[in-house]
Amino acid sequence: MVRTRLKRCTKCKKFGLKDKCDECGISMKEVAPLKYSPEDPQGARRRKRLNAGSEKWIDSLPSIEGDYSDE
Ligand SMILES: [Zn+2]
Repeated sequence: MVRTRLKRCTKCKKFGLKDKCDECGISMKEVAPLKYSPEDPQGARRRKRLNAGSEKWIDSLPSIEGDYSDE
């Protein structure tokens, strides 16, 4: 099964499936399929929540330092 790749004109921003834009006649650029829309508020919230690597995120990790009393 061949999946048709969506293309987009870099000039008029029009989406299409042909190699060249119907409007401008210039080469269309292949659009990489996006898993999440950049305009998806859920995606932004997800990234914000999973702010991994930040100091806040490190603080939220459970620490086992100095907690060996069970041994
Ligand atoms: Zn165009």
